Amino acid sequence: MSTPAANLVDLRSDTFTKPTPAMRRAMAEAEVGDDVYLEDPTVNRLEKRAAEIFRKEAALFVPTGCMGNLIAIKVWTHHGDEVICEERSHVNLYELASMSAIAGAMPRIARADDGILTWKKIEAVIRPKIYYDSQTALVCLENTHNMAGGTLYPTAQVNDICAKAHAVKLKVHLDGARIFNAAVALGESVADMTRNLDSVMFCLSKGLGAPVGSMLVGSQEFIDKARIYRKMFGGGMRQTGVLAAAGLIALEESPKRLHEDHANAKYLAREIATIPNLVLDASTVETNIVIFDCERTGLNAVEFCEALQPHDILALDTALYSVRFVTHCDVDRAGCERAIHVTREVASKTRRAGA
Ligand SMILES: *Cc1c(COP(=O)(O)O)cnc(C)c1O
Repeated sequence: MSTPAANLVDLRSDTFTKPTPAMRRAMAEAEVGDDVYLEDPTVNRLEKRAAEIFRKEAALFVPTGCMGNLIAIKVWTHHGDEVICEERSHVNLYELASMSAIAGAMPRIARADDGILTWKKIEAVIRPKIYYDSQTALVCLENTHNMAGGTLYPTAQVNDICAKAHAVKLKVHLDGARIFNAAVALGESVADMTRNLDSVMFCLSKGLGAPVGSMLVGSQEFIDKARIYRKMFGGGMRQTGVLAAAGLIALEESPKRLHEDHANAKYLAREIATIPNLVLDASTVETNIVIFDCERTGLNAVEFCEALQPHDILALDTALYSVRFVTHCDVDRAGCERAIHVTREVASKTRRAGA
């Protein structure tokens, strides 16, 4: 795709969002310095604001969400420790096994159909304190849960997990790539939602629309260690203020419009649920991710996405028969209506149509 079509509806991911004109202006005008020496005023402002918004002691700008999660896992574990995470979580499936390859930790899988772990599921996979067993060090939650379709943790459930994990000396990290989507859907503040978590990673570059960057938030002690590992992993950047300037706008302004993405996702879900041969429980869609099953069309998910593409509708396959639509600031209601029109056509003209 060298030149995208004017009416392209890109539902592959909220990572495809482009910086707004206000972000580009702020980037051009950003005051900068060498952030490895803590001298970039714009990065310092972004880190201060992120810490304030989450009511944590400190924050750190990191190049990617993957590096943020890896840094947190590295801080909270020793080589040979286990990290409890959900089977389809991002840290387990989409981070190149960095927790093992780099941090030396092992994922220990818990499974929840909706991606949302309970203490009962976590407790069942904690290793006994026996010297010849590897030891559990960390629980990693994902809110919203990407591969389960943007599902949410009720805050009381997060608090319950944190209290019980802390009682047995485990740390709890949140992969909150889309924590602001969760906050908008729940009508709660990210500070209240994450109060008892030991560390949180969130992305500026997803639904918040910044071109680059994620944040870690936590205690000053955690962030001091995180800064060392960021440098060790090659993420100590210099005049990063040009990126942080866009991040500041993403952080302050973008959460205000996420409800539009959720309304569009609910619209997509309601319509998809009425399309013969596509399977989706629309009531499970609460944020900006819609995942439906296309097996009955006779196409697999790759083939289904390929059939949408000539109509300038882009989607991603997330499993053999699972297709994902993600709404974001660069897709409007008219685009979603066109996506539904095309999806309906594709689903009705498949191999087994009329069979
Ligand atoms: C995108 C994503 C990440 C990592 O983000 P990158 O910036 O692409 O490294 C982590 N967790 C979840 C749930 C994500 O969706």
